[in-house]
Amino acid sequence: MSFLSDAVSRIKASPTVAMTALAGELKAEGRDIIGLSAGEPDFDTPDNVRRAAVAAISSGKTRYTAPNGIIELRKAVCEKFYRENGLTYTPDQVLVSTGGKQILYNALMATLNPGDEVIVPAPYWVSYPDMVLLAGGTPVIVEAGIESGFKMSPDQLEAAITPKTKWLIFNSPSNPTGAGYSREELKGITDVLMRHPHVWLLSDDIYEHIVYAPFEFATPAAVEPGLMDRTLTMNGVSKAYAMTGWRIGYAGGPKELIKAMTTIQSQSTSNACSISQWAALEALTGPQDYIPTSRKAFERRRDLVVGLLNRCEGVVCPTPEGAFYVYPSIADLIGKTAPDGTKIETDEDFAKALLAAEGVAVVFGGAFGCSPNFRISYAEADEVLVDACERIGRFCASLK
Ligand code: PMP
Ligand code: GLU
Repeated sequence: MSFLSDAVSRIKASPTVAMTALAGELKAEGRDIIGLSAGEPDFDTPDNVRRAAVAAISSGKTRYTAPNGIIELRKAVCEKFYRENGLTYTPDQVLVSTGGKQILYNALMATLNPGDEVIVPAPYWVSYPDMVLLAGGTPVIVEAGIESGFKMSPDQLEAAITPKTKWLIFNSPSNPTGAGYSREELKGITDVLMRHPHVWLLSDDIYEHIVYAPFEFATPAAVEPGLMDRTLTMNGVSKAYAMTGWRIGYAGGPKELIKAMTTIQSQSTSNACSISQWAALEALTGPQDYIPTSRKAFERRRDLVVGLLNRCEGVVCPTPEGAFYVYPSIADLIGKTAPDGTKIETDEDFAKALLAAEGVAVVFGGAFGCSPNFRISYAEADEVLVDACERIGRFCASLK
């Protein structure tokens, strides 16, 4: 009998984290590697935010905080939700955690019992199904492929709901595809949820600020206020302010749910890092110019990468509405053979062979529940992206 728990044996290590670690190791060995697997902005955290953290250290804000987060930050989160999303929350309806990841973890641990189902549209961010499994629930995957713009239709959602459905986990703009639901498309989804009062909605809005005109971001509880009392609106500073390492995520939701999530946090990590909380307060309340500046750079890189990838033989790359990912299809390359004899039978074979032949690290589509595709994070310098796409083009052309 294994010493390890059933819970851990149900899940695997995060493939995005694993691929990024592998690329880092190969680089450290001196290999010429371009890592496009890490889903994080390449920019530095804005100066005002860094200064706020230094000030927090200097003034001794280095002790435990309230488990749900410092009141100053929870108030700032309420103001953010009101200002940017038109959502009204009070500070006791807000939880601050160690990254959006811990928000998700707390929410699922606080609500799932064995047999409970959670609807997860695919392609999905790698952690959704595994966190559901860890918490003892059952992920119900709804496939929304390239032909539907990687978006789930209201009919698909309707068909997936059963009496056991507890949550829909929703992410727009999406990791890994960058697909964003318009207000009208969201209304189609929220209308279905309005017909099923037992289903709760977890809206992961972490890429809210990384969207490209004419697309405009909207969050489901604002589109359908009738869902407010069963929606958890999750967000964080990782992507919006280039603060992935600071580990601050937050959510607004019904008081009882937030209280239960806080109980779990109080028995696991206690509170998010005090210094990071003060830094996040500055991010939300200080100058906001980082957001449009980074958005402009990401938009230019999106256009660059989509253009270059569509010139690669056998690659079809849609233009995403947001985030900093593209999710091209490689259906035409499956079944081919690389010069070293490697048969490309899956997108995982493709990603491994690409790394071996050209030193470009991408994440294979199977990790996100939709194949045959791969994900590129274009949060990299333009010249690196050009080099990477040239290498990908050369690799695709070499497949016979
Ligand atoms: N949701 C999505 C869709 C993400 O891509 C990420 C980043 N991997 C997160 C949540 C969590 O980010 P963090 O824990 O850094 O806040
Ligand atoms: N957002 C990132 C990604 O998807 C971070 C790694 C992770 O937490 O999965 O690659």
